[in-house]
Amino acid sequence: MMPELPEVETVVTGLKPQLVGKRIVSVRNSGKNLRYPLPDFSVLFDSPITAIIRRAKYLLFHFKNGQTLLWHLGMTGQFHILDKDEIIAKHEHVALTFNDSSTLRYRDTRRFGYAGICATDKLEQHVWIKKLGVEPLLDDFNGKYLKDKLNTRKTSIKQAIMDNAVVVGVGNIYASESLFRSQINPVKVANSLKNKQYQALVSYIKTVLEEAIEAGGSTISDFVKADGKPGYFAHSFKVYGRANQPCLSCTKPIEKIVLGGRASFFCPQCQKLK
Ligand SMILES: [Zn+2]
Repeated sequence: MMPELPEVETVVTGLKPQLVGKRIVSVRNSGKNLRYPLPDFSVLFDSPITAIIRRAKYLLFHFKNGQTLLWHLGMTGQFHILDKDEIIAKHEHVALTFNDSSTLRYRDTRRFGYAGICATDKLEQHVWIKKLGVEPLLDDFNGKYLKDKLNTRKTSIKQAIMDNAVVVGVGNIYASESLFRSQINPVKVANSLKNKQYQALVSYIKTVLEEAIEAGGSTISDFVKADGKPGYFAHSFKVYGRANQPCLSCTKPIEKIVLGGRASFFCPQCQKLK
């Protein structure tokens, strides 16, 4: 399963203390392209990393020379840091070596991840960034915003909250979980919710994402944390992946349907379509 917002946040949190202040001195790659051709990393050489932040599912590495490295982990991308530079291993596609000889390795078995470089002051106009909706954990994402944004939207509410132009980073798992907690049927037409339901949904989207960040990212089988240790497997979902198992609130079997090509899980009793 691909890393979602909480996993990316966890990676940022893991990388930040280890990389901020360091300067890239050299780069090697496997010779294989990722989803797009790799950028020319040499424009970043010898300039300290000043910050690492997350925007949607992008890692943004800001450099003192006014450049930003954007990185998306795709389906199977993983970072880890080695103390010393070593020969590039299988499925490792980029190795960035720093001034203290430590090295940031990027491994990606399926190679759907990608990286790019952009002037920091032009970031908001970058083609990967400019169409992104609000960040779910910021105050800009609130009940009124969601209601206004979905005013004319006739798709299902589940597809609407998974639309990155509405709000970023609400992936399939977290959409199902937040709709369950809000007691909203995933099929419900997006512009037909009551004010209270928009508010509840926003509030539970924030809660489920925050809980997952707290847990260090969710049950991602092939996800490795930024420090190279295996990801967390303990995070449990209330509906996601629980088809035919009893609802944790009412004991009715959880149903699975396909919406917009994605598996969707809900309780027909707790999330009535009325
Ligand atoms: Zn139920």
